[in-house]
Amino acid sequence: MTELVDTRTAEPKRFIAGSKDDWEVIIGLEVHAQVSSHAKLFSGASTEFGAEPNSNVSLVDAAMPGMLPVINEECVAQAIRTGLGLNAEINLRSVFDRKNYFYPDLPQGYQISQFKDPIVGEGTITISVGPNKQGEYEDVEIGVERLHLEQDAGKSMHDQHPTMSFVDLNRTGVALMEIVSKPDIRSSEEAKAYVTKLRSILRYLGTCDGNMSEGSMRADVNVSVRRPGEGFGTRCEIKNMNSIRFIGQAIEYESRRQIAILEDGGEIDQETRLYDPVKGETRSMRSKEDAHDYRYFPDPDLLPLEFSQAYVDSLKSNLPELPDAKKARFVSEMGLSAYDASVLVSEKANADFFEKVAEGRDGKVAANWVINNLMGKLKEDDKDISESPISPDQIGSIIDLIKEGTISGQIAKDVFDIVWEEGGDPAQIVEDRGMKQVTDTGAIEAAVDQIIAANPEQVEKAKERPQLAGWFVGQVMKSTGGKANPQAVQALVKQKLGVE
Ligand code: ADP
Ligand code: MG
Repeated sequence: MTELVDTRTAEPKRFIAGSKDDWEVIIGLEVHAQVSSHAKLFSGASTEFGAEPNSNVSLVDAAMPGMLPVINEECVAQAIRTGLGLNAEINLRSVFDRKNYFYPDLPQGYQISQFKDPIVGEGTITISVGPNKQGEYEDVEIGVERLHLEQDAGKSMHDQHPTMSFVDLNRTGVALMEIVSKPDIRSSEEAKAYVTKLRSILRYLGTCDGNMSEGSMRADVNVSVRRPGEGFGTRCEIKNMNSIRFIGQAIEYESRRQIAILEDGGEIDQETRLYDPVKGETRSMRSKEDAHDYRYFPDPDLLPLEFSQAYVDSLKSNLPELPDAKKARFVSEMGLSAYDASVLVSEKANADFFEKVAEGRDGKVAANWVINNLMGKLKEDDKDISESPISPDQIGSIIDLIKEGTISGQIAKDVFDIVWEEGGDPAQIVEDRGMKQVTDTGAIEAAVDQIIAANPEQVEKAKERPQLAGWFVGQVMKSTGGKANPQAVQALVKQKLGVE
């Protein structure tokens, strides 16, 4: 296949220390993403997850004699959309090949895949790497080598019967996109960021649900190490990872295992390995067969896949706004920091929620509420944003109440907690529970006088060190249950203490 080259321009951010040298880790990922579509790639059988075993199986999927595959146009469109979302070259002509291999759960005896001529060529995924010691993040571009369409296999079940294995063909023939990265990834952090970003793009596009625990997205992780400046070393491939956290752990373990062998003067065998999350180790599964052993050849049952540029353009014009574009817009039009914008766009549901809160309001204030209050609380309660007990409109009303001067920022947090627990209209809650901010200067003045009278020693100190005025403000806020207008309190405290 194509010769491996370093396409990465940015310097890697860190090296792993061996006992003698520093080492650079080289990673390339092959991600299998199940295409979101109602029917399979070459048959009309349903793709529904969790159905009764062998209930979603057509005669084509069961490889009955004489059955012919028929391409599902929606799966093709999904692959093209994904290619466009990865800024990749779309190939107007691609070819389906047979990859000959015995899979007990793929009765054809071969997998229909794409080899020499995939539907999508080179593209890129931009990841954000950091923070460094200065707290900065840097954008790094990771090359995508190709994306091709192929069939998934079914599932063998070895735990249902003491002496037999069963096969469930529901997944057999479901469309997968295999998305192959260039060996441009340089650390476990970058690998995790790559998978996270890819998943986010797929979810924005609606081309794969990205549910790794259900197996709709899984990654083969290729790892090698080298001394800085050397050429690529021999790699090992860790198969079928379905958790981003485990991908990170497997890379950390595997790179150190390889470094230890090389520093001892040994060699790395190119092999396929499995990660055991309980032991935190990778172990050998099989030595790598050469790709030619699969005896790929064009599937005689399928014509080459051809479509027009106009078709690609029409799909392109209907693509949704993707995370990078959304982030740029949040920064330029709403004044958010790059960091806040990337937190909000990482999940589409968060971005959508934020945009509803921000409608007609200050973007930064809205971002602050969503990131610090809402997302913090969701995390505490281990809830997803789709399960948020508080709606964008409710958060919006709280923000409005602060802006109008009806409540202080402090009280707003209490209102937020009440709405979170009990629901209801924030304005009504403030009204009913007497949470309105006290702007009546007479009442605030009385509270200030009382604190000043009760603390003569502090008053003396504050006259010498004016910054101690803050202490009085805090006491007054406390004594008024947070309801006093903080600006009014501050002004009065300074005036009464005679400090500036
Ligand atoms: P295969 O299909 O046999 O696994 P490919 O050449 O298609 O082989 O490469 C698969 C993946 O391995 C790609 O993501 C590629 O970037 C990665 N890769 C190739 N060489 C290395 C290497 N030396 N170190 C780490 N990853 C590598
Ligand atoms: Mg591979």
